[in-house]
Amino acid sequence: MQTFDRLGDLRAGLATLRAAGPVALVPTMGALHAGHLALVRAAQARGARVVVSLFVNPRQFGPAEDLASYPRDPARDMGLLAAEGVAALWAPSEAAMYPPGYATEIAVGGLADRLCGPFRPGHFAGVATVVGKLFNQVEPDLALFGEKDWQQLVVIRRMAADLDLTRPAPAAILGVPTVREADGLAMSSRNAYLSAAERAAAAALPRAMAATGEAIGRGQPVAPALAELTRALITRGFASVDYATLADTETLADVATVGARPARLFVAARIGKARLIDNIAVSPG
Ligand code: AMP
Repeated sequence: MQTFDRLGDLRAGLATLRAAGPVALVPTMGALHAGHLALVRAAQARGARVVVSLFVNPRQFGPAEDLASYPRDPARDMGLLAAEGVAALWAPSEAAMYPPGYATEIAVGGLADRLCGPFRPGHFAGVATVVGKLFNQVEPDLALFGEKDWQQLVVIRRMAADLDLTRPAPAAILGVPTVREADGLAMSSRNAYLSAAERAAAAALPRAMAATGEAIGRGQPVAPALAELTRALITRGFASVDYATLADTETLADVATVGARPARLFVAARIGKARLIDNIAVSPG
């Protein structure tokens, strides 16, 4: 695995890589787990050489968020990626990504204002900005993102379509299903914030979501089902629920009844020092 921390070196290295076939980009903030590795494998399954970026992007953290404490273990990450057969690691410094005088932001309207938007002002602008830069730096043929961060996935697709990006083409921005722990909790670097007791309690999130998704699919009215889901999470140890929403998979607009268009159940809830998000498909029957 080649490792780059300067853009000029990355571009020179990629020229060689590209000659051998399609290049896939997997953006990450490190502290890697099996969810990240699933993105790498999905890219390889499509015959691509994989470039993983590792950059804890300060612009997507709010002032009261966990930038300073975000888990970091680059040596371990490099070992995991090399073992997966990743072709290149792009690990720029903050100064390389945002040199003095840096002043440009990509703000995606509408989609970014829903779900997590009001709870994390500026977050999706930070994500769209860094991913836009990564796309221009790597010029990948395809890029892979986790469905765990569904809103992020649709925001990035919108950004790529709106800015007429061709590498990757919007259609080559692929979502990969959420990888879960044995008890159903979605893998996340932030799960490391949980104490043993909080970690055990956190399994209530996917369990309660599955039950609610099934109830809504069977025809239970949406609003009371979501209220019951919120109550269940608080009862089982969550401190608060930012939102529990049934929304259109593409527009993220609230959905009052299932069936007309594909819908997903989205939840963000806080336990201990962690804010956990998850989403699942909800279909009738
Ligand atoms: P992060 O390092 O948390 O910014 O995540 C990097 C990429 O990995 C994003 O596209 C995430 O959506 C994806 N990802 C994170 N957790 C999971 C998971 N449990 N399953 C699948 N993809 C994931």
